[in-house]
Amino acid sequence: MQREEQQIIDWASMVDEFIVVLDEKGAIVRSNQPWIEFCNAHSLTESLWKSGTDYFRYFKEQEKDGEATVLHQILQKEKTEHKQIYPFVLTDGEIQWFSLKVRPIMKKNQQIQGAFISLKPIHLHTIQPITAESVLESMTDGFYLLDEDLRFNYMNEIGESLLGCKREDVIGKGFLEVFPEAEGSTFHTEYVRALEFKVITEIEEFYEPLNMWIWKKVYPLKRGGLALYFQDISKRKIAEEKLKEYAYYDYLTKLPNRRLLVKKASMLKKAKQKFSVFYINLDNLKFVNALYNYGAGDKVMKKVAERLSTVVTDKCMVGRMDGDEFVVLYQPGTGERLEHLASRLVQLFEEPFLLDDFQAVTIQVSIGIACHPFDTSQLEQLASYSEIAMYEAKKLPGSTYEFFRPKMKVEHDRRSKIEEGLAGNLDELGFEFAVQPQINGETEALVGVEILSRWNHPELGMISPIEFIKVAEQTGAIASMTKFLLEKVFVKMKEWQQNYGCHVRTAINMTPSLLANPAFFDNFFKMIEESGISPTQIEIEITEQAELTYSETTLNYLYLCKEKGISIAIDDFGTGFSMISYLTHFPINKIKIDKYFIQKIGESAKSEALLRSLIHLGKSMECELLAEGVERPEEAEFLKAHECTVFQGYLYDKPMKPEDFEKKYLTSLSPIGRNK
Ligand code: C2E
Ligand code: CA
Ligand code: CA
Repeated sequence: MQREEQQIIDWASMVDEFIVVLDEKGAIVRSNQPWIEFCNAHSLTESLWKSGTDYFRYFKEQEKDGEATVLHQILQKEKTEHKQIYPFVLTDGEIQWFSLKVRPIMKKNQQIQGAFISLKPIHLHTIQPITAESVLESMTDGFYLLDEDLRFNYMNEIGESLLGCKREDVIGKGFLEVFPEAEGSTFHTEYVRALEFKVITEIEEFYEPLNMWIWKKVYPLKRGGLALYFQDISKRKIAEEKLKEYAYYDYLTKLPNRRLLVKKASMLKKAKQKFSVFYINLDNLKFVNALYNYGAGDKVMKKVAERLSTVVTDKCMVGRMDGDEFVVLYQPGTGERLEHLASRLVQLFEEPFLLDDFQAVTIQVSIGIACHPFDTSQLEQLASYSEIAMYEAKKLPGSTYEFFRPKMKVEHDRRSKIEEGLAGNLDELGFEFAVQPQINGETEALVGVEILSRWNHPELGMISPIEFIKVAEQTGAIASMTKFLLEKVFVKMKEWQQNYGCHVRTAINMTPSLLANPAFFDNFFKMIEESGISPTQIEIEITEQAELTYSETTLNYLYLCKEKGISIAIDDFGTGFSMISYLTHFPINKIKIDKYFIQKIGESAKSEALLRSLIHLGKSMECELLAEGVERPEEAEFLKAHECTVFQGYLYDKPMKPEDFEKKYLTSLSPIGRNK
């Protein structure tokens, strides 16, 4: 046994207080004689004093969680002392009051060695008021005594300050006389119950007149009346409320969050209620953030939330999912139409939102609506259907809403399959390419080819590149897809060189996102180098886009292409909207006039004049010219007459399988071909 412990025990045997010494794990090391005698005299369990007893276990068995917490805090050095007026319920149900102190026992090195508990019996009725008072006044809890008629007998100083009254004003007065608003409150009814049934109770309630959350413990006294301890627990309660808020409400808009929406929907489902999900997406918030700043986006979100809140009723909950997505859960009453709410929601966005600096921002919304249980009784599906309908609404201009229709799901599933495929093994999934020759109409010679992707999907069959390229561009899969395509094409080009001595210029289509992707370009250049193919044999086709999307990086990479000898062609020329600035800013080698203008040949003098000026423009920039989509001989004649002589179109060839292209164009070039 440690010396410190022994000293305490020696001392403990000399005092008439009750002393229990615990080790650092909470087991009794020693109890002093007066405590053992007290326990025996009241037939109390040995566990209270016997050496070796684990006090934590005893507290647990007795469900004395508060006591266990205090002891734990002392043994963990979280508290250096605990003092309390402690009611000890004896075996006969009577209460013995103790002045309780718990302190840690420290080793010399400041490590915890154990705890020291002292219990001094106090007799509230018999001891001199001054002694009782000194104890009660030193407490950190508020305290008062009520007699059997609930009249104040005593109140300590803390009690005065917590309740905002003076004891001289309350002593002798009835509880309800001092706190008339407490009539019928839990406090009052529990006091009456504690008096009548002699039970200890604990109450936690908000008391409006004091604007305070109060915790109270009520002890009935042996000779009638009640002793009450209380604390102001407002801070804790507010923290708890805040936590609840964080858990169920969105921090920015203060609207219910996803969790609360899901909870509400589950409740409605369980109650077999009909309800509809309105999935609301703000179309152009990204724009607001880019144009102004993130603060502006937040302000707009708050204002959007305010406007949406105007539709809230007890049958209509508005919440924020994430980002720029809101959800309305609506239980329509009989005769109430969903369209009505939908158009009301749309109307909410007609007026622009004013920012602080009086900038007006117009926000458009797309709303998708799905109904439970009409569309589905599964909540996850319901959410996904409303989202699918929202995407349908997004396809329409302006603020709009769409109800979910099963057909939408078919389209959605198709898109998901395409997305999945693009992220998967393209080789196994039937991803191929076609080759379309570019012909000099005067000499009929092959001057180039364009590579066009083809996808024969195992489930969906042939998918148009227009469809899957759009998806790839949106999901970001375009980079890996194009890399895969380039690998295949380079292998083919190498074969053509080796087998047929063919060095035809081969064009690959690029999208805006690829042009702004340095990693893609770096890899592209590396692949060209590794393939051993001359860069002059490679052409990239870029489309006219709003100049905005072409950054400094894009321009630098395009110049790098030019430096290396890679040819740059403008695809679909004439359909974009910044032609002139393209031609002057970009290092262009070739212009591919869009088939729209070619098809107009012979149709109207006006469109022919336009085509002539396009050709003229190209010539004046010293660019190569190519006409796309040439189908009819008269188109070819017209073009030739106006000095545009290179054609790509069905008149010569449709896009063809590489093998067919080899057979038609290359075998005649090869030594083997010539020998045939
Ligand atoms: P594009 O680059 O303008 O390609 C020409 C499109 O016109 C091809 O459609 C081709 O089959 C079609 N075409 C060729 N000659 C004629 C003709 O005489 N008459 C008519 N009516 N059409 C003709 P396709 O193969 O369906 O490709 C559509 C678009 O998909 C392409 O338009 C291109 O923008 C894109 N695309 C195809 N493959 C790729 C690819 O590997 N990467 C990228 N980024 N886009 C691709
Ligand atoms: Ca093209
Ligand atoms: Ca084109």
